[in-house]
Amino acid sequence: MNMDCAPSTALDASAATSDYPGNLFVVAAPSGAGKSSLVKALLELDAQVQLSVSHTTRAPRGQERHGREYFFVSDAEFDAMIAAGAFVEWANVHGHRYGTSRRAIEERIASGADVILEIDWQGALQIRRAFANAVLIFILPPSWEELRARLLRRGEDRPEVIALRLRNAAEEMAHAHEFDYVIINEVFERALFDLKAIVHAQRLRYVAQRRLRPEIFSALNIS
Ligand code: GDP
Ligand code: ADP
Ligand code: 5GP
Repeated sequence: MNMDCAPSTALDASAATSDYPGNLFVVAAPSGAGKSSLVKALLELDAQVQLSVSHTTRAPRGQERHGREYFFVSDAEFDAMIAAGAFVEWANVHGHRYGTSRRAIEERIASGADVILEIDWQGALQIRRAFANAVLIFILPPSWEELRARLLRRGEDRPEVIALRLRNAAEEMAHAHEFDYVIINEVFERALFDLKAIVHAQRLRYVAQRRLRPEIFSALNIS
């Protein structure tokens, strides 16, 4: 069995996000495309969106803090969480394991918050199987040259880590066609505008509007 990510049989395929008042957004991208920068900017603009903080076995980078960017855990702790069924998805990415806790997502979308996940393509497809209405967004860089330049400019990874991430970028991008939306992060403000537009459109869906303003729908005699 390929143990690079959770076996699909372990996942609960019954839930649909329409059962919950909150939306679930999943953002994936090759490392360096600008995913974290875009999501961070969105969170600053929109208090209704909450970030899902993943667990990872990799070491903290730069200014990262436990509980803010990630929960940094040992291999043994990660194994124990898998065994306890704590992850709605997990995957091996760039030689480390990363996982999303089921409870963190379900409690928040049940309470009406929109939750955004920054995870790799394997995790994104697992999330879609678990939450049928999750919105999958892929961020592309404008070119290979720019992707490399951004990883170098970020300056937080060793050269061999950057080389590994660039090698893995082609495989990540080969899955972009399985996503619902693509944002090309060339001009940052434009890409942020596009991300906001996707979030906004999701909130205008029929079921969402009817849940938000039931009095208008009943006064207009529509179901
Ligand atoms: P479109 O570019 O054909 O989709 O036309 P739009 O009317 O959606 O937007 C026109 C231009 O204004 C686009 O380049 C948008 O990126 C930009 N724009 C519109 N609203 C905003 C905004 O709130 N923030 C930013 N940064 N750009 C915006
Ligand atoms: P990811 O989370 O996808 O690995 P980051 O958000 O860390 O990527 O971005 C990688 C680097 O590229 C950072 O230094 C960030 O400031 C920079 N960056 C992000 N978007 C743009 C953009 N549109 N133009 C130029 N630099 C960008
Ligand atoms: P980084 O180490 O740069 O923060 O993340 C490396 C990769 O792991 C990125 O592609 C990121 O999206 C992915 N990742 C982060 N958290 C998770 C998670 O919880 N699950 C999965 N499947 N991937 C994750």
